[in-house]
Amino acid sequence: MAIDFSFPDELLQLLDRVRRFCAEVVRPAEAEIREDDREGLVRQVIRMRRAAREQGLWLPQMPPEWGGMGLGHVAMAAVSAEAGRTRFGPFALNCQAPDEGNMHTLLHWGTPEQKERYLRPLCEGRTRSCFAMTEPEVAGSDPTLIQTRAALQGGRWVVNGHKWFISGARGAAFAILIARTEDDPEVPQAGNSAFLVDLPAPGWELLRDIRTMSGSHNHGEIRIENLELPAESLLGGRGRGHQLGQYRLGPARLAHCMRWIGQAETALEMTIERSLQRFAHGSLLAEKQGIQWMIADSTLELYQSKLMVLHAAYRIDQGLEFKSEVSMAKHFVANALNRILDRAIQVHGALGYSLDTPLAQMAQQARWARFADGADEVHQWRIARGAIETWTRDGSVRAATGSLPI
Ligand SMILES: Cc1cc2nc3c(=O)[nH]c(=O)nc-3n(C[C@H](O)[C@H](O)[C@H](O)COP(=O)(O)OP(=O)(O)OC[C@H]3O[C@@H](n4cnc5c(N)ncnc54)[C@H](O)[C@@H]3O)c2cc1C
Repeated sequence: MAIDFSFPDELLQLLDRVRRFCAEVVRPAEAEIREDDREGLVRQVIRMRRAAREQGLWLPQMPPEWGGMGLGHVAMAAVSAEAGRTRFGPFALNCQAPDEGNMHTLLHWGTPEQKERYLRPLCEGRTRSCFAMTEPEVAGSDPTLIQTRAALQGGRWVVNGHKWFISGARGAAFAILIARTEDDPEVPQAGNSAFLVDLPAPGWELLRDIRTMSGSHNHGEIRIENLELPAESLLGGRGRGHQLGQYRLGPARLAHCMRWIGQAETALEMTIERSLQRFAHGSLLAEKQGIQWMIADSTLELYQSKLMVLHAAYRIDQGLEFKSEVSMAKHFVANALNRILDRAIQVHGALGYSLDTPLAQMAQQARWARFADGADEVHQWRIARGAIETWTRDGSVRAATGSLPI
């Protein structure tokens, strides 16, 4: 009897290559990037991507026929956690959000023509994309409330609506757009459809980049007015928008968790390093029990995060039901990341609050993890409902706790 937590040599060697690539290519490039110099940023991303291709580290998440490395979700968890320790590592490998999720979506739902037209250039790194679902007027947590409308007129779809927080909108070659198409669906979740929109397009107006607590990072607000789309722009069929969104969000949520693990690990290592250098009140911070408790809590939470992500990834790879495991992992890792970063800042004192280390920016970025792609409370609601249903059905909560054999 064995539960095998080891990775094959091939994967260990790959992780080693990703680690070296981040140290030798990504970190030096990041040091050159200035927030106010977009051209410089693009130049560095191109340089990193060229190096990733040369080193055989391109597109780890996609099958070889799309130019990728064909890694499963477990292997991808390890690669993403490694690349996610740097800010631009995932960009360099072409496995960054939202393109990664859009690639999986197109691979699963696209027609052969749609795949050639949209997926191929995305995989080759010639284009970027965005995913447009959230609206300022209604709760993003409940997609049945979406107000953007697409109506068939003379064989073409005409779309009107308003979207915001559309990551990567500026410069995207296309959007996957979610709009309401069905007036009277059998179930509320079947009211929306997904469309592929070539950008720029008349009727699709980028109003602004939304300024956030961590600065402006190309999260666009979009006004959609009489946007005309051909019939073949429908992705996945009428009324399938919710299903497609859920399919996209499962692995995409887990992909976020993988990158967050990389961030959390960096923060914990920085915490320990600082505590071994800083001396106060007669001893190093590392020798003080109050600091050791913080290090212990962060270590425990990082360990739990890794186990949850690996198990959810394993379930996806095995073709098993994975929704509740991904939901639990997303909730846990998002919160663990915020706590681990907060402790790291605390141990660094004023230095942690300054921009002399990456911690302050990492903490600002991490805040959105607790409500985007499923707010904490929505995941908790689903997790609780699953546990209650499982208990009622089976007289046991085993199936609600990962279906583990204990
Ligand atoms: C950095 C960033 C990038 C993003 N990128 C994209 C993108 O590319 N494309 C896109 O479409 N969207 C994107 N979003 C939007 C994101 O998906 C939404 O913020 C998210 O779905 C939540 O929707 P909302 O902001 O409207 O919050 P709301 O739905 O209004 O929820 C607000 C709060 O209400 C509470 N709440 C909601 N439902 C319940 C419930 N059932 N029980 C208890 N409490 C509840 C929760 O505390 C929740 O945080 C992004 C957001 C951010 C911050």
